[in-house]
Amino acid sequence: MSAKKTALITGVTGQDGAYLAKLLLEKNYRVVGAVRRASTLNLPRLAALNIDRDVELQTLDVQDLTSIVRMIETIQPDEIYNLSGQSSPQASFQQPLYTGETSGLGTLRLLEAIRLMNARARFYQASSSEIFGQAQGDMQNEETDFRPKSPYGVAKLYAHWTVINYRQAYDLHASSGILFSHESPLRGMDFVTRKITATLAQIACGGQQMLMLGNLDNARDWGFAGDYVEAMWLMLQQRDADDYIIASGSTYKVRRFVTLAAAAMGIDIEFEGEGLKTRGIDKKTGRQMVGVSADFYRPSEPDPLVGDASKAHRILDWQPKIDFEKLVIMMAESDLERARNGQVWY
Ligand code: NAP
Repeated sequence: MSAKKTALITGVTGQDGAYLAKLLLEKNYRVVGAVRRASTLNLPRLAALNIDRDVELQTLDVQDLTSIVRMIETIQPDEIYNLSGQSSPQASFQQPLYTGETSGLGTLRLLEAIRLMNARARFYQASSSEIFGQAQGDMQNEETDFRPKSPYGVAKLYAHWTVINYRQAYDLHASSGILFSHESPLRGMDFVTRKITATLAQIACGGQQMLMLGNLDNARDWGFAGDYVEAMWLMLQQRDADDYIIASGSTYKVRRFVTLAAAAMGIDIEFEGEGLKTRGIDKKTGRQMVGVSADFYRPSEPDPLVGDASKAHRILDWQPKIDFEKLVIMMAESDLERARNGQVWY
């Protein structure tokens, strides 16, 4: 029997970290989760998947090279998945330097530690469709030009090129997954999908608040996080490291997400008006449930991006199992249950 592999996941407390940790535990890995030191640990996602006791937690901050070196030295990982960093494009306009430090330079620190220590670990980088920004072509693939439109996209592009550079210059087994948006019931509340399902669930349970959103005509290529972490693992099982687009290949507007999520909670929403004057009305009661505010527009919006994942289908044999409709229903039902149980969940 082969020895148990050790995986190190940075960002293990986040959405993807939790799903990836679960997948790797099911594959019989020893999973070490890197967490930032805090007075209270952020463990609800690991607890929601019932794995909070199975992941070994150790302290690491991607802004601190010494903590990275110490961690690699101690646990001697076979695989490192870098999922850490400030992950919100919207928030990156308010925190551009912090975003660059964690999502850009954080990746360089990890790769430099692997190189200097001559570590055997294979490396996965959480790259992002936001590196495309101003979309070139109808669909984006691994050859498409990069034109990021947010500090987050710029930081991720720095990290993306660093992975390519370290692979070419030092022969590291380092791969980037250029992941398009992926969601789940564990998505953070500052992302539009989760904001929609959590707020509508409160309204469905008698809450009087209104769901305030930015541009309802923004379209995204949305998939399920549980499917996408499988692609991360597959990338590190290949003989050669490489970069792959991971996407659903279809886009849907925010407006469609709202309508489907509301329908899953028994609310029939109809939209009227345009732009900032758009109103989402409950057809049964005539009450306004959705409004639009310029506060939720980004200073510069990426064009509608749609990913061509044919390389991942072909080489990794990766296929997503959950489509857009199932994803929305899954998130809506999960938040409705939380709201009914009075569960306060970030
Ligand atoms: P998330 O839920 O926001 O998780 C981010 C994680 O990074 C959290 O565990 C956070 O820890 C950790 N972190 C933040 N700053 C850190 C630091 N200085 N040192 C160590 N850890 C730090 O994000 P996600 O949705 O799981 O995404 C995972 C990765 O994929 C991110 O890099 C994101 O940018 C990228 N990505 C996501 C998507 C998507 O649609 N979800 C698409 C493309 C790329 P705390 O719990 O301490 O805050």
